[in-house]
Amino acid sequence: MKVLVAIKRVVDPNVKVRALADGSGVELANVKMAMNPFDEIAVEEAIRLKEAGKVAEIVVVSVGPQQAQETLRTALAMGADRAILVKTGETVEPLGVAKVLKGVVEAEQPGLVVMGKQAIDDDSNQTGQMLAALLGWAQGTFASKVELDGDKARVTREVDGGLQTVELKLPAIVTTDLRLNEPRYASLPNIMKAKKKPLDEKSPADFGADVAPRLKVVKTEEPGGRKAGVKVGSVAELVDKLKNEAGVL
Ligand code: AMP
Repeated sequence: MKVLVAIKRVVDPNVKVRALADGSGVELANVKMAMNPFDEIAVEEAIRLKEAGKVAEIVVVSVGPQQAQETLRTALAMGADRAILVKTGETVEPLGVAKVLKGVVEAEQPGLVVMGKQAIDDDSNQTGQMLAALLGWAQGTFASKVELDGDKARVTREVDGGLQTVELKLPAIVTTDLRLNEPRYASLPNIMKAKKKPLDEKSPADFGADVAPRLKVVKTEEPGGRKAGVKVGSVAELVDKLKNEAGVL
């Protein structure tokens, strides 16, 4: 079975994001970029399924600028077999990405698509669900465990207040949650090997996808600063402050 993994190039999670002075977005010039952390988990899961003999080929795909090639190479160095960059200079919203991915799925015919539950830049948490709807496929979102068994996938989902296990008929979409696995680092020899792995370049038009934006960002602002804390001398003082200053007791 072939697995398709969708990966997005985002601002590195360790970078402090700054809003642009005119509020039109966030500062991206000279900012370190990285693979969306939930997508690293998706790549790792696909590799583990391949190591377990359940999967034959892992194809990674990213919709983004030329530099998203580097992100795809990272996935190849982790263990993916082949990459597709769907190149675009514009910001593509989740619906646009889902339409492109639908085209990729139709061309590649994977038995399973693994994606992150959300991209940490736009926090949309939409693309996997939209892709499932466009394809008419089953979906197992927020996965903390994935088991493949013949033409079925059993997915344990992290839901409010506990875990839910669903059984999906393949082909299906799975989106990853934080506790699914811990992604591996690519070794130096594998980084070298990844340079020779195939990376195809396509455009949204190759898949007939309309990626024109439907949303307009009205304003982007940083959260208000936090007030400095105070040290209290005793439990009694703490209780007094909570009662009389904070008004929470
Ligand atoms: P979102 O709906 O934007 O929060 O993203 C959810 C997931 O969809 C991500 O974790 C990726 O797996 C996938 N995704 C979103 N945008 C892209 C993109 N531009 N290229 C490839 N995959 C993407």
